[in-house]
Amino acid sequence: MPETPFIAVGGGLAGAAFALELARHGAPALVLESTRTAHHKVCGEFLSAEAQALATYLGLDLKAMGATSIATFRLASGRSHAEAPLPFRGAGLSRYRLDQALLDAAEAAGAEIVRGVTVGELEALEGRVVVTAGKRRFAGRAAALATGKHSLRALPRPPSDMVGFKIQLRVTQVALRHLAGVVQLAMFDGGYVGACIVEDDLVPLCWVLHRDLLQRIGADWPAQSAYFSQSAKIVAELLHDAVPKWEKPVAVAAIPYGYLRSQIIAPTIFPVGDQLAVIPSLTGDGMAIALYSGIAAAQAVLAGEDAAKFQERLVDRLRPQFRWAGIVNRLFDTRILHRPSVAFAGALPGLVTWIAQSTRLRGFEDVMERPKPIRSGLKA
Ligand SMILES: Cc1cc2nc3c(=O)[nH]c(=O)nc-3n(C[C@H](O)[C@H](O)[C@H](O)COP(=O)(O)OP(=O)(O)OC[C@H]3O[C@@H](n4cnc5c(N)ncnc54)[C@H](O)[C@@H]3O)c2cc1C
Repeated sequence: MPETPFIAVGGGLAGAAFALELARHGAPALVLESTRTAHHKVCGEFLSAEAQALATYLGLDLKAMGATSIATFRLASGRSHAEAPLPFRGAGLSRYRLDQALLDAAEAAGAEIVRGVTVGELEALEGRVVVTAGKRRFAGRAAALATGKHSLRALPRPPSDMVGFKIQLRVTQVALRHLAGVVQLAMFDGGYVGACIVEDDLVPLCWVLHRDLLQRIGADWPAQSAYFSQSAKIVAELLHDAVPKWEKPVAVAAIPYGYLRSQIIAPTIFPVGDQLAVIPSLTGDGMAIALYSGIAAAQAVLAGEDAAKFQERLVDRLRPQFRWAGIVNRLFDTRILHRPSVAFAGALPGLVTWIAQSTRLRGFEDVMERPKPIRSGLKA
């Protein structure tokens, strides 16, 4: 059985950040990723200030990668909408580009990336971690559980009836001008739909629905887009003459919003990203949590901290942010509050900016205070 000291199971943002942070401190790391090439993910592709700072710490130049700049939040329901300044400057960049860049950076720093490997089991056995993928097995001293939106069978997360979708659009010049510098969310009965602009003037449209609504309207793009267009005027305007880049949206089911993993898996197995915590998507901060927890897990491993302490520390750090995000999520989920919320946002944009600030990751700067990485020297 091949042996690498540190293994990331899943090569999304959290797993790649874990491997990159270890590799650039000279520690051998392996990433096992199920997809074979860069791929599109269900994500609104809005990067918060925290996500941008953490990506920059990891060595990415988001602007050079084509990230757009976003300064305004727009909230809509039915025929009305309101705008408020974001408490920071956000960015738009596709996950297709971002995730691959992070894996490339991890590889360049010395991590081994193995794609096309779908892990079935991750266990702690006799003082080491053992990863099983079909007939292949890998062993190491510690692992990051970084499978994101997909749980391993033996390590489930709670059930949920929330389903997420994304499709990439080419929109008209008029629609592009209206969306420039903006991240927008439109609420409807049973879910919400968000949009911003990413590189090359592409628009990812991303939405979340309760399963019963999905059963009513159907999973195909024409039916869903017709439903959104009826539900919010700004979405109808965005979709007018828009051309989808793919035949059907990418989708993910059973998103356990609000989940914070309390159960410890093993002292050597570090849950990171969506396997540690799932913030409601409307906050646009899940990527920050993924990057933060991946880096923090790598630093915990380097410092000899066990996974239980790491997990308790991170969950405590995330709790206040999750409390606020949960309140906002309930508001989005209560149809009679949609119109008053838009009216309120129009009347008190400063309060909206303050609420947006309350749903952010706090104290993330601590992982960036570590001494500058060395590329070799540490013997793991
Ligand atoms: C609808 C929606 C909209 C969102 N919008 C935003 C947003 O605008 N901004 C924001 O910051 N966050 C957003 N998020 C949250 C964000 O997408 C996640 O928090 C983030 O992707 C988590 O990163 P991760 O690395 O944990 O998981 P993922 O990005 O899901 O990566 C996990 C990786 O593991 C791989 N994998 C899975 N199973 C296995 C296996 N068994 N073996 C090997 N590999 C495996 C997958 O292929 C994948 O590459 C949104 C989420 C949803 C659902």
